[in-house]
Amino acid sequence: MNYRVFLAGLAVSLALGGCASKPASDASLKTGYAAEESRHKPLKANDPVDMEPKKWLMADLETRDLEGLNGPHSLAGRTLEVASLKDIRLADKEVILTFDDGPAPGKTDRILATLDKFGVKAAFMMVGEMAQAHPATAREVLAHGDAIGSHTFRHPDLDKMTFDAAMTEIARGKDAVTKAIGTDVPFFRFPYLADSKRLRSAIAARDMIVMDVDIDSKDYFTSTPAAVVERTMKQLHQRGRGIVLMHDIHQRTVRMLPALLTRLEKEGYKVVTLKYKRNSTPATNLVAQAQTSMVR
Ligand SMILES: [Zn+2]
Repeated sequence: MNYRVFLAGLAVSLALGGCASKPASDASLKTGYAAEESRHKPLKANDPVDMEPKKWLMADLETRDLEGLNGPHSLAGRTLEVASLKDIRLADKEVILTFDDGPAPGKTDRILATLDKFGVKAAFMMVGEMAQAHPATAREVLAHGDAIGSHTFRHPDLDKMTFDAAMTEIARGKDAVTKAIGTDVPFFRFPYLADSKRLRSAIAARDMIVMDVDIDSKDYFTSTPAAVVERTMKQLHQRGRGIVLMHDIHQRTVRMLPALLTRLEKEGYKVVTLKYKRNSTPATNLVAQAQTSMVR
């Protein structure tokens, strides 16, 4: 490899922390996994999946108040029954917590434990090959009562594929997650949020519900957990509500979650639980809904 090209690549990797959004992605909220395939390699059973939190990471997090949070939590909001995209409508100060790219042993389970401390549920959008590699962790999520969706099989940018290849990826991802947890997974999220009208319609026609994103925590950037919390809260203050995108494959996400939930609770936000309700509306009617951007 050309040495200069290597150095340039290294610099970009360091800047983006290994899980980059696509170029010029800020405004369009396109986000997700690293471009390089290595991010997608499933963890092996003996991989080191955890490290001790470093002091500097914890020092600036507002987690000490956790001790005092006894009794009934006020963070848990209503349960929203969702049969199609149009049902995902949030009131002011309501949030949906979503975690993409797992399941990842040592991280996903710790996120579940944190959610339990606050009495809330989230939605996990699993990569097919990750669910296939870690079915026990996938089933832990199911047992926890969270909403589960698929996120393709190998996390490609569907924008760069033919329609048929993209649909094959989507179906393969859904099948792998379904097989891992033993039940159907109705939700779907586009890798890098790279969607198209045609794909959205085809997904709706298959009774799948696209999980969009309003607030990108950008937890895939190399930054402190505290910075992730600040970034997320800042966007939330601007929008007032929304679906929050996080990733259960990052240690910083595991570490920052208690602080984020503490902030949300203090500021009076409610975490909405999603419950899939099988649709009785013919799938063809859902196609039009899928093409209409959500009003939240
Ligand atoms: Zn992703």
